Amino acid sequence: MFASLAGRSVIVTGASKGIGRGMAKRFAEAGCRVIVVARSGEGAKLVAEDIAVAGGRAIPVAADVSTEEGVAAMAAAATEHFGGIDILCANAGVFTAARIAEMSVGEFDDLMGINLRGTFLSVRACLPELTRTGRGRVIVTSSITGPVTGMAGWSHYGASKAGQLGFVRSAALELAAAGTTINAILPGNIVTEGLVALGSDYLASMAASVPLKRLGSVEDIANAALFFASDEAAFITGQTLIVDGGQVLPESLAGME
Ligand code: NAP
Repeated sequence: MFASLAGRSVIVTGASKGIGRGMAKRFAEAGCRVIVVARSGEGAKLVAEDIAVAGGRAIPVAADVSTEEGVAAMAAAATEHFGGIDILCANAGVFTAARIAEMSVGEFDDLMGINLRGTFLSVRACLPELTRTGRGRVIVTSSITGPVTGMAGWSHYGASKAGQLGFVRSAALELAAAGTTINAILPGNIVTEGLVALGSDYLASMAASVPLKRLGSVEDIANAALFFASDEAAFITGQTLIVDGGQVLPESLAGME
């Protein structure tokens, strides 16, 4: 599937765990060379080693996407090791619950700094190389939370994820002249370290809300990313794809039956 991806150079942010690790592995399986980015150098190294053991090619980079130095380091690593950047998966994100009345300005700013500023910084740092190829690809990991749904305790997170979509739509227009596309995936509830940390009650209530009767896997999201990155998706830009097992569809739980 997606043979056009073989040999392409991919940066995946937030790739030491969860969805980003799933993307890094699937891109490597498709023959891509992968820059594995996370703040934890050890975590990134383990994923890069797993990819190498499976016969793929990956370089770990310890970088914080909320900083200009961090994103410069990951872009430089792709250029140094792989000669450029064909695909950026701006996936790194955090989700810590806080209700508005108790949320500090620091909590709000920290989350926005990673989820929203980190998306902007990652794209800006990779633009010179992405646009040079004439077929650059950016895939942003947003969420159903914010763009489509609301959840008490997640106003800052929802704002960051909806903000990413505003960024994507205008960025699509700026990047189009260079043949670079940018699209967003909106995952539902996907089994990752981050989701599991929200607790078993949360997982059970979310699983019960999914018409397809299961939580998502990281491969469900990675497969959508591979499609957006492929030559087959060359005419799609500025768009969003919900991958949630139908979770946003029912008007009520009774409406699922
Ligand atoms: P996760 O399991 O918590 O993994 C998050 C990854 O991001 C880790 O590799 C983490 O490594 C990295 N990271 C966090 N902050 C970073 C930073 N400042 N710079 C670089 N890397 C950073 O999360 P996940 O569930 O896979 O979520 C990944 C993305 O999907 C997020 O954008 C999230 O909002 C979105 N999403 C997830 C779900 C879901 O159900 N899981 C649903 C909707 C959307 P370090 O801590 O070492 O940096």
